[in-house]
Amino acid sequence: MRYISTRGQAPALNFEDVLLAGLATDGGLYVPENLPRFTQEEIASWAGLPYHELAFRVMRPFVTGSIPDADFKKILEETYGVFAHNAVAPLRQLNGNEWVLELFHGPTLAFKDFALQLLGRLLDYVLEKRGERVVIVGATSGDTGSAAIEGCKHCENVDIFILHPHNRVSEVQRRQMTTILGENIHNIAIEGNFDDCQEMVKASFADQSFLKGTRLVAVNSINWARIMAQIVYYFHAALQLGGPARSVSFSVPTGNFGDIFAGYLARNMGLPINQLIVATNRNDILHRFMSGNQYVKETLHATLSPSMDIMVSSNFERLLFDLHGRNGAAIAGLMDSFKQGGGFSVEQERWTEARKLFDSLAVDDAQTCETIAEVFEQTGEVLDPHTAIGVKAARECRRSLDIPMVILGTAHPVKFPDAVEKAGVGKALELPAHLSDLFEREERCTVLPNELKAVQAFVSQHGNRGKPL
Ligand SMILES: *Cc1c(COP(=O)(O)O)cnc(C)c1O
Repeated sequence: MRYISTRGQAPALNFEDVLLAGLATDGGLYVPENLPRFTQEEIASWAGLPYHELAFRVMRPFVTGSIPDADFKKILEETYGVFAHNAVAPLRQLNGNEWVLELFHGPTLAFKDFALQLLGRLLDYVLEKRGERVVIVGATSGDTGSAAIEGCKHCENVDIFILHPHNRVSEVQRRQMTTILGENIHNIAIEGNFDDCQEMVKASFADQSFLKGTRLVAVNSINWARIMAQIVYYFHAALQLGGPARSVSFSVPTGNFGDIFAGYLARNMGLPINQLIVATNRNDILHRFMSGNQYVKETLHATLSPSMDIMVSSNFERLLFDLHGRNGAAIAGLMDSFKQGGGFSVEQERWTEARKLFDSLAVDDAQTCETIAEVFEQTGEVLDPHTAIGVKAARECRRSLDIPMVILGTAHPVKFPDAVEKAGVGKALELPAHLSDLFEREERCTVLPNELKAVQAFVSQHGNRGKPL
């Protein structure tokens, strides 16, 4: 499989190189040159497969030529073997024909484990083969950092540095990162906010001289391997609900447009999906595009669903590329005008095309809490605030009651106790067994000033299993 850039100028790469790449050299994002397509018979024959075997069938075409089948199978069995639920991604019924796909049974209790557990293992496999080491520098407002650290903690060939804003992540989120003590794990608390952290990561990709030749790898969802891993659970859910003979709809709590883009790909690979709902919080750039064809940056608001607090959705570029007939020059033009003036609309027929599949809703904090309370009353289930936004959007935007509606349950409620408390749900939430001693564990973290030089010096001092690069 070959991968091409959404801006049309960067060289095509194979899977291995795309795994190790960040942005393409032309500023674009990598996508498969040709998407695999499965027949209905083929998809139907996968019913009842264990999760890792389904994962093998869905992802195999993306890695062909880079990873032999037997090795890939073994990696997938290990990856999904660490999940705390036998079904890996169980479906829970909320209402007639309304389901939550629980994606929070991984080590860090959010769906990001599906991709980052795999990414860590794939990196180690490829780097071992090449005899190379890499450094990861990532920024997190909470969930990505812990999932990336858990995913990479056993990697022999990776040193990982995660920047988080000092005193601005929840205690559970901080401890999930700082209590992992491997010599290749480095937590840095920056005396600044999340944007400061993200700026430092961007600047580090732009000028890598501080790394003395060591390669820098991205762990945010611009990395293609993360999207790829997320396609699988759309197939998994649909197969349990009568697919592919019957079509299914999904509502997806959305920030960077990575998770829902995986659903769009699943559909293009042959899975009958009727409707994809973009569920956002008050940071609603995607809702404003889907409802009014305006893609315009606005100021960032802090909400009760912090993992979706973003101003610009990087993966949206991958959808725009398809909507524009895969014309890289057109995308480069749009992204340029976005940078210059802060916004754009697309031609009417392209927008209408998107609206055939996508609907959207923006949900504010008050509605989020109302939904948590409502679902608790109806079912006794406590939802996390992100998932609650998905439920609210599903109930508002649903096109047909006859088609099963699956809401992606993106995090465990115990990670977001503030929202649950605000919703007035009087049920004590407990950490799952594997994290029950989280508050007693030893923490390790370095606090650094909000200065790029200080961070880069720290990375080059510790980037080789704690020793200088
Ligand atoms: C990352 C995250 C999201 C948003 O996913 P995107 O792929 O960025 O759209 C939603 N919910 C939770 C809990 C997350 O951690």
